[in-house]
Amino acid sequence: MRMNDIASQQRPLRVLLVEDTPDDALLLLRALKKAGFAPEHLRVDSAAALRDALAAGPWDIVISDYTMPEFSALQALDIAKRHDADLPFIIVSGNIGEEVAVGAMRAGAQDYLLKHSLARLGPVIAREVEEAAVHRGRREAESRLLSQQVRMNDILGSLGDIVWSISLPDLRMDFISAAAEGILDRPASELLGGLNIWLEEVIHPGDRDRMRDEYLGNLLRNGAGSAEFRILRPDGEVRWLLDRARVFADDKGRKLRIDGIASDITQHKQSQEQLYRAAHFDALTGLPNRKLMEIRLQEELARAGKRGTLMALLFIDFDRLKTINDSLGHNAGDIVLAELANRMRGVLREEDTIARIGGDEFVAILPDIRHEAAVEGVLGKLAAAIAPAIAIGEHVIHSTASIGVALFPSHGSDGETLLKNADVAMYAAKRAGRDAWRFYAPEMNAASGRLLALENELRGALGRGELELHYQPQVDLACGGGISGFEALLRWRHPKRGLVSPADFIPLAEETGLIVPIGEWVLREACRQARIWIGQFNPALRMAVNLSARQFAHAGLVRSVAAALADSGLAAANLELELTESLVMQEPEKSAGVLHELKTMGITLAMDDFGTGYSSLSYLNRFPLDVLKIDRSFVNQIAAGAGDAALCEAIIAMAGALSLEVVAEGVETQAQLGFLARHRCDRIQGFLFSRPLPAAAATDLLHEKRCLDLSGEAAGAAS
Ligand code: C2E
Ligand code: MG
Ligand code: MG
Repeated sequence: MRMNDIASQQRPLRVLLVEDTPDDALLLLRALKKAGFAPEHLRVDSAAALRDALAAGPWDIVISDYTMPEFSALQALDIAKRHDADLPFIIVSGNIGEEVAVGAMRAGAQDYLLKHSLARLGPVIAREVEEAAVHRGRREAESRLLSQQVRMNDILGSLGDIVWSISLPDLRMDFISAAAEGILDRPASELLGGLNIWLEEVIHPGDRDRMRDEYLGNLLRNGAGSAEFRILRPDGEVRWLLDRARVFADDKGRKLRIDGIASDITQHKQSQEQLYRAAHFDALTGLPNRKLMEIRLQEELARAGKRGTLMALLFIDFDRLKTINDSLGHNAGDIVLAELANRMRGVLREEDTIARIGGDEFVAILPDIRHEAAVEGVLGKLAAAIAPAIAIGEHVIHSTASIGVALFPSHGSDGETLLKNADVAMYAAKRAGRDAWRFYAPEMNAASGRLLALENELRGALGRGELELHYQPQVDLACGGGISGFEALLRWRHPKRGLVSPADFIPLAEETGLIVPIGEWVLREACRQARIWIGQFNPALRMAVNLSARQFAHAGLVRSVAAALADSGLAAANLELELTESLVMQEPEKSAGVLHELKTMGITLAMDDFGTGYSSLSYLNRFPLDVLKIDRSFVNQIAAGAGDAALCEAIIAMAGALSLEVVAEGVETQAQLGFLARHRCDRIQGFLFSRPLPAAAATDLLHEKRCLDLSGEAAGAAS
């Protein structure tokens, strides 16, 4: 127990002895024990043995003899310090000079002792072992810190964001993480130091002033802040950064530095920009779309309202784009649209907006208009820009636009009203024959609303098979009152309105040009039906078909009549075309030419509604007519008074003189029939014999072989 106590008081010490003399080593060990240590030792006397021993360590201390035959303390010292700089090294010598001792201490030895006075041995060793422990601890702490810093740098480096630190008050970039090199495309060394490179090269010129004056200023004032800004890379690429920063101050409030983190938000910005573009611009033309147009319109209205200035809203609709799409394909239509958009943009001012709001519909907003005449100037420029032909392959396309104009504030004070009224004015321009512009007028509204609805429906009517023909028989008075032919009369079987009269939709079809395809259908259908009846009943049967002004003016008329005949197999002699006075008088020269062509084909030409128009007898000679149809307004009056009866009589007589056949329309009474028969009218048509009938009912009538009873009238005629 006591022994243990004593042993426990002795400090364990692992000591490596570099000593060639075993006796000296024993002496030293004894001294150590005496000084209170429990040494555990190994003795070596060569470099190799020393290295092995060090490697087999650990050791608390090395005690080396100064002079050995094969080895020296200075060599040993070098080996030991290389192995572990903190391992204490003490030199023991028989006699050592002052100079040698100092040299050894400089070389890294901790102390030296003389062999014959080892009294200092204990305290020296205790001190050195302790100090070594302190050293070792400090070194370990340092290396831990170092590895932490390395790790920190690794983390910052692997971070996609740029971490930075600027010292204050000198405003120097002290630290910037590795990500900067990749994002800014510059070596970190270039970015460190004064901020000049940042403010003169790195930050985008457009953001430099803001970053220096606002951002930095605000940061220093408020202690924290964030900003989005652009940087310019040496290769010219622009990137967006989002920067967040804080100012660090010491406990006395002295600002020491600003630390920040900047993220590359370029992609985010780009997708934001893309989203914005997709939502606000038309992909084909690059112009603003309806949504952006509406936003701009609101802005311009607010501005015009505040300043009291005028503004014009143009509704632009291209007239034939659908035809281009249908005949040349959508690609061609797209090319034309993009070109037209470009040209229109080119003639407008910077502050004007031109937007594509639908297929071939554009809206222009013209702020700050001085007076109406200025708008006309713009309209003229637009028309001139639109006019030049566009070549697509071997096709040459001429475009025209119908433009409606609404003015702020006279035609509306809000965007919706202005848009609606410009649209109404655009339709008025369309009805005026296209390639025209109109300023809005209140009268346009009521008419166009109704017409618009009807027009839209009529457009689809042909395709949906809602159009049909009714046939009104014509009766031959000269040869016994039998059916000599029919007039084909168009009907629209409207799904909601029922049977719509031609008087209600033919004028509209005329205005919109729909009459051309509709008229062509009528012609073909009437010819087809006539061909059937001719084969079944009467080879001389004649089918009368009405032509409209637009149809008559259309360049393809003669061709389409010929095609209708050829396709149905109907002979030209069985077809009668009805024209009106106003129709042929629009362009008399041209009309005469067309009529001659038709006449040459062998077609019968009838003047419809005679007496209601020019009634100028002089033209009757100029046109190759065969038939006069006396308008029913005259026939109506036959029984009532002598005046109109006389007119009817005169027309019949005159027609006889010109060798024209006469047909009386709207014969409703036996009295009218009597009068007409007596005056040798050739044919009559009217409710008295039959109303216009669907094809099936007309076929029944032909089967019946019904005739007008002319017995009484013939007697009258004879008297
Ligand atoms: P219109 O060519 O003068 O046709 C005669 C009109 O008089 C027809 O009217 C017919 O139903 C009506 N009518 C016949 N007999 C009598 C009668 O005894 N009393 C009365 N009160 N009326 C009678 P609807 O079918 O309403 O046609 C009106 C007009 O529409 C036609 O006048 C014609 O100008 C035009 N129209 C009809 N079909 C076509 C067509 O296919 N193409 C063109 N371009 N115009 C057509
Ligand atoms: Mg007619
Ligand atoms: Mg008529």
